[in-house]
Amino acid sequence: MANKSNLPIIVVGGGLAGLMAALKIAEQGQKVRLFSLVPVKRSHSVCAQGGINGAVNTMGENDHPDLHVYDTLKGGEFLNDQVLVREMCYHAPGIIYLLDRMGVPFTRTYEGLIAFRRFGGTLHHRTAHAGASTGQQLLYALDEQVRRYEAEGLVEKFEFWDMIGLVKDSEGHARGIIAQDMQSMEMKKFLSDAVIMATGGCGLVFGKSTNSQVVTGSANSVCYQAGAIYANGEFIQVHPTAIPGEDKLRLMSESVRGEGGRVWVPKKPGDTRDPLTMPDSDKWFFLEEKYPKYGNLVPRDVATREIFDVCLKGFGVGGGDNMAVYLDLTYLVKEKGKEFVRKKLGAVLDIYSKFGGGDPLDVPMRIFPGMHYTMGGLWADFDATADKRLNWDSGKNHMTNIPGLYAAGECEFQYHGANRLGANALLSCLFSGMVAGKAAHVYTGNLPKSAEAMDASLGDAELKHCQAFQEQVTRQDGNENVYRLHQELGLLMTKNVTVIRNNKDLESTLGALSDMQQRFGRVKLVDKGLAGNHELTFARWMYNMIVLAKAITKGALLRDEFRGAHYKPAFEYTAVTRKEVPKFKTTTWTDDGDYGPYYMARTGQNLRGGAQLTPEQVAANKAKADKLSPEVIEHFKWFDEVNEKWNKPTLAKCLNTEPEITYGQVKMGVMAPVPRKYD
Ligand SMILES: Cc1cc2nc3c(=O)[nH]c(=O)nc-3n(C[C@H](O)[C@H](O)[C@H](O)COP(=O)(O)OP(=O)(O)OC[C@H]3O[C@@H](n4cnc5c(N)ncnc54)[C@H](O)[C@@H]3O)c2cc1C
Repeated sequence: MANKSNLPIIVVGGGLAGLMAALKIAEQGQKVRLFSLVPVKRSHSVCAQGGINGAVNTMGENDHPDLHVYDTLKGGEFLNDQVLVREMCYHAPGIIYLLDRMGVPFTRTYEGLIAFRRFGGTLHHRTAHAGASTGQQLLYALDEQVRRYEAEGLVEKFEFWDMIGLVKDSEGHARGIIAQDMQSMEMKKFLSDAVIMATGGCGLVFGKSTNSQVVTGSANSVCYQAGAIYANGEFIQVHPTAIPGEDKLRLMSESVRGEGGRVWVPKKPGDTRDPLTMPDSDKWFFLEEKYPKYGNLVPRDVATREIFDVCLKGFGVGGGDNMAVYLDLTYLVKEKGKEFVRKKLGAVLDIYSKFGGGDPLDVPMRIFPGMHYTMGGLWADFDATADKRLNWDSGKNHMTNIPGLYAAGECEFQYHGANRLGANALLSCLFSGMVAGKAAHVYTGNLPKSAEAMDASLGDAELKHCQAFQEQVTRQDGNENVYRLHQELGLLMTKNVTVIRNNKDLESTLGALSDMQQRFGRVKLVDKGLAGNHELTFARWMYNMIVLAKAITKGALLRDEFRGAHYKPAFEYTAVTRKEVPKFKTTTWTDDGDYGPYYMARTGQNLRGGAQLTPEQVAANKAKADKLSPEVIEHFKWFDEVNEKWNKPTLAKCLNTEPEITYGQVKMGVMAPVPRKYD
């Protein structure tokens, strides 16, 4: 398509999503300016360990993209945008083969095929991996491709630049960014006709997390404060298996369990025996016992709650701040030998040896849940075709509510609903980067007027605003230290807005955040330097984190239900009705279970796809539903009522730094929500 805009498209972020978006734009011959806080090869994506999902089905299990879709929707408790999830899962095998052709050294089977391992929330071997350093291999492969376009002059990189402001024209359309050189501290406006945010999650809002230390969500907060809607902020993933650390948490990838690692605690609370001397009869493999089908590979929200629960009940090992459960690879070592395990998991084993202490091939690891992933993010849209596929020719795909502003990767909200499945993040980053890159190209090609033709003062007001913020922070004289304030923020958010939530604590957290915002006005910087001033950069990030934390917390406060990672015990079925959840048969993609007939008889629509059923089909379903016990029917009615009210994305709008919350619509089209069971 001919492009009317001569301005390069701005991509903020050089992780997997940003690099893929840049590639897609450059492939069409359009120029890109790529901004990153760090060299793009050091973007947080480099940390990804376990792998990337795609139903390639080389493992002889009859895997299929539809099963991948179903697992993803069920994993996200049906809060995901279904059309996009389907499109992503159908593209997944192609994306894996594309990466293979780019030279990613995927682990192979003995026949030379790409090997797939199991990950959480599925019963299939669906995760392609390059040992246990998949993110690094993927990022380096994409970096090479982008460098090719850089050499051709189509991509210009701005590494060590911090995006601190969004430029909008008089009609509210995105027309560029304000960025700051983190070394010279120079602030500059960069005009463009489209801006793609690919800035990752917001781990540092929670203080210690498994994320890299630049993953603050600051740029996402900048967009939110500029009018972009922030959606599903309260859905924060706490990974079940992290190594606690003084400085940060380090991940023990789900691939450890995918290969055969087992989670256990001593059956007797307070048993301090050496785990290697303990007989199996004295160990409690609580995940395997409670979830015989999925075992140690239940979805992360489920595993995290179970680990918390056994620790709260006193079964954890270590105690106090060192509370942990065992993640044990010694069974796998006995079965397959050290060499096999090292080959599959080498990179993560090294991390444990270095930071956890001890060789995991010899001793069980001690792990505890830790903040890991941001399911929510900048709200973004898409266009569907009449047959509910993605309309690839639309400029609306992945566009936020600010025209010309796009979001891709972990910074946006559409794919993972209430809980992300392991190894679906890399996939969604790459897929959404492709979609956003293409859409931004289409959009800029159809614009009636480019920013180039606008008043030369475009963006000056935003630049002044950013300068004024810096002057104010530098001038401030008070008794607050920005790093100590951040520590407080992290502790507060981790305590009250992660695994277990209640309204009283959420309300007090909101109050504390407002207080913190006031206290920010008393932050005194120690470093007054005008070059490479990290404290100054961090102060801006900190302010933006507080504003974002408010949106996350308010979303959590107002969502009175239990869905995926958002667990409010007061709103569980048992707490509300004072009844046990009755036994019923799980509904899957291939089996209607017990809920299917009930739903189809009630609505007259097919559970999958929503087509109108014939009167005969409705009658047949009714006959099956009539056989269900009154307890099961009562539970299903409750499930429907909760969904009617709450299966909606939270939409936070920033009004003078305060979040105003409304609710949107989940875009259906694949399957009606069904009760989520993993036993
Ligand atoms: C330890 C760990 C292991 C993981 N393993 C897996 C796995 O095995 N499989 C899986 O699917 N997922 C995994 N994940 C999740 C996955 O790695 C991330 O979701 C994904 O890499 C995010 O990619 P991204 O491109 O959206 O953002 P990132 O890779 O975080 O990149 C963000 C980019 O934005 C830039 N940026 C941010 N703010 C600004 C700003 N203000 N100005 C300029 N630039 C900015 C950064 O410099 C960076 O280039 C893992 C996560 C962690 C923490």
